[in-house]
Amino acid sequence: MKFGGTSVASAQRIAHVADLITATDEPKIVVLSAMAGTTNALVEIGHQLMAHHRHEALTILTKLKHKYEQETQLLFPDKHSYDRAWTLVNETFFFLEQLCYSDTFTLFDEKKILARGELLSTAMMLRHLEDRGVRAVGLPALEYMRTNKQAEPDEDYIQAHLSELIKRAPEGTQLFITEGYICRNAFGDIDNLQRGGSDYTATLIGAALEVDEIQIWTDIDGMHNNDPRIVDATSPVRRLHFEEASELAYFGAKILHPTCIQPAKRRHIPVRLLNTMAPDAPGTLISLDTDKDMIKAVAAKDNITMIRIRSNHQLSHWSFMGKVFALFEHHCIPIDMIASTEASISLTIERSTLPDDLRHSLQGLGSIDVEHDMTIVCVVGDMEWDNVGFEAQILNALSEIPVHMISYGGSDYNLTVLVEAADKRRTLLALSDHLFGSKDAKKGADK
Ligand code: ADP
Ligand code: ASP
Ligand code: MG
Repeated sequence: MKFGGTSVASAQRIAHVADLITATDEPKIVVLSAMAGTTNALVEIGHQLMAHHRHEALTILTKLKHKYEQETQLLFPDKHSYDRAWTLVNETFFFLEQLCYSDTFTLFDEKKILARGELLSTAMMLRHLEDRGVRAVGLPALEYMRTNKQAEPDEDYIQAHLSELIKRAPEGTQLFITEGYICRNAFGDIDNLQRGGSDYTATLIGAALEVDEIQIWTDIDGMHNNDPRIVDATSPVRRLHFEEASELAYFGAKILHPTCIQPAKRRHIPVRLLNTMAPDAPGTLISLDTDKDMIKAVAAKDNITMIRIRSNHQLSHWSFMGKVFALFEHHCIPIDMIASTEASISLTIERSTLPDDLRHSLQGLGSIDVEHDMTIVCVVGDMEWDNVGFEAQILNALSEIPVHMISYGGSDYNLTVLVEAADKRRTLLALSDHLFGSKDAKKGADK
């Protein structure tokens, strides 16, 4: 059971999560994010210290400390237990203050700062459960969560070390609490699984231990059919295939970390998205089952750059393609969308600019055009080739919008378009109206 930032945002919310995780006796591992706002504050402190702005860093830190003091008082009303809890919480603030006054500040320090949010929420939960008389054991993420030299989770290491920690717990332990997001890298330094990474912690644990179900508890009742931060009339999707959920997460549905579905998908472990604020709501089940004949949802990913490379015809078509991809591989830059003709190829990368060295290498193959500030909009559903009509419905919805690229047929589950960032909102609204509005997205409804 993974609980996100808003689910543990205050003393009251932490107590509510404690109710939820102790409601049944089933053995479970609970993954906690940092209290909402904490990681953002820690990121900001890191930036200020990197820029030698000690005063600004201390101002943010003081505000954060004040919030934790208040929440600790509320969660531990008894004087003795407050003193014990505050001693623990205050260790973090002492550590952060020390860093603010240090003469040097490195990237290693920055990562250590970022790790503090999850360490705090987990420590507070464990102490709170102890006060309730609940037996729970902490699993320190820094002892089992690890990435390899490619900065990908080292699943063998995770499985071996996590199993060992669990084996060492007192016999009969049914409840484990661990920090989401934080890990060590291949060199043993403190690192993290990128923003939103607690979801990834949960699915990596679920896959390592081959659990029955992975639950992601958040502040909304499951995956919605469009981005609720932009579109008002969204509604939850009850069932998604692993592939559909992976595409939505990768292409910007913030409810899930971009790659967190992969470990669950590989082991076929169902993932349920649930709402901490409405625990009885059905949420979304991600599994091998899905509803056919439907367009399910839309997501958007910002900060995209499009590159078009026109061959100088010094290479055969197949060598041209091969050389283009090899250059991206050499620079370790993943490509999201591709469209090609006999003499040119367009592709997108998730970056605000094209790195200069890659630009120079690409210019050796032909002329290049680069467009910045683009957004990928991904429509997910039952998109098999013989399921005629959905492509037309989607493109009809976009009849007023300048589309720069279209990608279809890469899988049975999505159609992706590239639009200017300035057109993102109206693209999402148009898709919402045409696919999920009065015009039902059921096949044939437009006929
Ligand atoms: P947590 O802190 O629990 O990890 P997040 O903020 O990371 O929560 O993710 C939940 C948020 O994701 C929702 O509050 C919602 O605003 C946003 N979101 C974006 N796209 C979607 C979507 N398609 N379905 C549901 N939520 C979405
Ligand atoms: N606390 C981290 C973040 O805000 C990880 C997470 O919440 O999943 O990104
Ligand atoms: Mg999240």
